[in-house]
Amino acid sequence: MCWSFGDLMVAPKRIIIVGDGTGGICTANKLSARIPPENAEIMIVGNSPKLSYRPAGLAISLGSRDYRKYSKDVRFLLNSKISYRRDTVEGVDARNKNILTKSGNRYDYDYLVIASGLRPSPEDIPGSDGEAKHFQDFNHAAELHTLLDGMTEGDLVIGSPDSVYSPTSSFEFAVLADEFLGRKGVRNKIDIKFFFPGEEILPIGSVSTRMMEVLGRKNISCTENFSPKRVSQRNGEIASEEGALLKYNLLVMPQPMKGQGFVCKSGLAEKNCLMPVQEATLQNEKFPEIFGVGDAVDFKTMYVPKTIGSTVMQSGVVAEELSRELGGKYTDREYRGEAPLHVYCGDKLAFSVNVKQGDANIGRDASLDYHFRQTGSDEYFSVLVRGMI
Ligand SMILES: Cc1cc2nc3c(=O)[nH]c(=O)nc-3n(C[C@H](O)[C@H](O)[C@H](O)COP(=O)(O)OP(=O)(O)OC[C@H]3O[C@@H](n4cnc5c(N)ncnc54)[C@H](O)[C@@H]3O)c2cc1C
Repeated sequence: MCWSFGDLMVAPKRIIIVGDGTGGICTANKLSARIPPENAEIMIVGNSPKLSYRPAGLAISLGSRDYRKYSKDVRFLLNSKISYRRDTVEGVDARNKNILTKSGNRYDYDYLVIASGLRPSPEDIPGSDGEAKHFQDFNHAAELHTLLDGMTEGDLVIGSPDSVYSPTSSFEFAVLADEFLGRKGVRNKIDIKFFFPGEEILPIGSVSTRMMEVLGRKNISCTENFSPKRVSQRNGEIASEEGALLKYNLLVMPQPMKGQGFVCKSGLAEKNCLMPVQEATLQNEKFPEIFGVGDAVDFKTMYVPKTIGSTVMQSGVVAEELSRELGGKYTDREYRGEAPLHVYCGDKLAFSVNVKQGDANIGRDASLDYHFRQTGSDEYFSVLVRGMI
């Protein structure tokens, strides 16, 4: 398709988005709302037929059975002007501006958005695969629920593998498991122990302090500076790099995560296959026509938790930056590390955390924030991923 400007015929630019998760769908929808189709063709390439509301893994591990409510067909969530290719990207040729997919297709782009999220890397903690239970997907969450439900005594050890993955959901699991076991009348026979690498649960002191207070209230003991190194199923223990050991009857720990292999292979990333970006514009430092959104991205100077909130905020910045480039609208919007979230803290309460430039404002424990957290999937599918915020 071409459009004419006087005698001049100008082909629309092609924007390719890699990844059909929260960041990819949200960015595509925002772009299609801002840029007229004669200026840009928007294509999304991804390999998930359904989008799941990930925080629901937590609810399922604690007994929710609302599976269908927590997943939607990707096509149903994309605006009609967006073209969707179900495929796996295997490489980016950044110099020649094209991507190569598993099915053998090569697509040229003018702009590329990497929104390919994270992949599990259980091999980083030998012995953990299958033995450390988690709620990162709904099947594993259901398995964890069965085990938790059957637990009557012993040590429930909960922790975080590393700093790439946000430890907030492990913290929430500990708090909610305390209440779940209390309701079943077995809490007094089960010791809940929480561990985390480094000196703070999150690298934002005020949030960590609040989380430690909550864990203290719930009589959950904490082991800091515990970077998991190895799990021994036979002995029922997890060892840390620092030389400590924790015995468990049930171990709950998300799998360690890394960026996707193709990002590294294409020379766009080094550490953990996460793509470093210019923090304000989310552009790749070497190739400014490549942007990054969501979990796939690395920030060099500020801490940004990998959450739905930060991903949605970043998608807005990229959409505005591209709509300015493509003659749409004027914008001077910059990303400043914003990451809003609500955190369960027990007793049907939650607190809000508004992260910005590595610091955070924290709200009081409130039932309204608990309500937002409980109904989050409705807002997620009807507003957030549709690009309305
Ligand atoms: C258990 C759990 C609980 C969470 N709880 C919360 C919470 O309570 N609040 C919160 O704000 N956040 C939470 N998060 C984090 C949140 O889900 C993520 O930050 C967010 O989904 C990141 O979006 P993304 O688009 O970057 O990545 P993803 O949503 O992971 O999407 C990446 C997409 O890229 C696709 N893809 C990957 N590689 C390729 C490839 N080579 N080719 C094509 N497609 C590819 C994948 O299939 C996927 O669809 C949680 C995450 C988990 C796992």
